[in-house]
Amino acid sequence: MEQYLDLLINLQGVDLQIENHSNDIANILKDKEKLQQEWLKYQQGLEQLKAACDEIQKKRRKSELDLEAKEAEVKKYKGQVLNVKTNREYQSLLHEIDQAKAAAEKIEEEILKLMETNDELQQQIKEQQQKLKAKQNQVEQQGKELQTCLEEHQQEKQTLQTQREKLTQGIKSNLMTGYEKLLKSKRGLALVLARDGVCQGCFIRIPPQTYEEIKKRDKIYNCPSCHRMLYTDNSPNTDQA
Ligand SMILES: [Zn+2]
Repeated sequence: MEQYLDLLINLQGVDLQIENHSNDIANILKDKEKLQQEWLKYQQGLEQLKAACDEIQKKRRKSELDLEAKEAEVKKYKGQVLNVKTNREYQSLLHEIDQAKAAAEKIEEEILKLMETNDELQQQIKEQQQKLKAKQNQVEQQGKELQTCLEEHQQEKQTLQTQREKLTQGIKSNLMTGYEKLLKSKRGLALVLARDGVCQGCFIRIPPQTYEEIKKRDKIYNCPSCHRMLYTDNSPNTDQA
């Protein structure tokens, strides 16, 4: 039985290490995801600027068509001036020409404004592209580091899992079942030290007679309160509790 106890204590040590690696792996994956999201944010920023720029160009093309139409109108009215018969008609045409000219001027101003906005956006796009490039370098660099770290943890975890399999082969299946059940329900420790008659898992005092039995190490006892498996200091792995 003592052999089982030592095997279980070793197994728990390995399981704790596996859990640590699993946590590290999960954190690294989160960091990688975060990095990817950061990069995506810059990428989206650039796309938004480009979309705004497209929108401005569309407006400009429309304004240019409007301007052409107004200029055509002015030309048409000017052509009609030669054929007017009355002063009233003449005045009316002049008024139409003035109005069309004013409208054309307004459109021209709009086009100028759109061109300015376009220039500003082009500048912002350039800046965003530089930022994105810098970010991309950072993401690649950090991504590589994270990947290396991830692979190290995965490899170590794999090695520990092989160790675990070997250990479990030496442990009776009913003990393994009990151990794994405890490990799940107790989140980490299935076996704990009983020191000076006290369970180090839940700190309840163990009945003296049971404690004496535990010390003999020829049967595995569970804590009457937290139900963890108990072992005493004379184990070679006391530092693991
Ligand atoms: Zn306990």
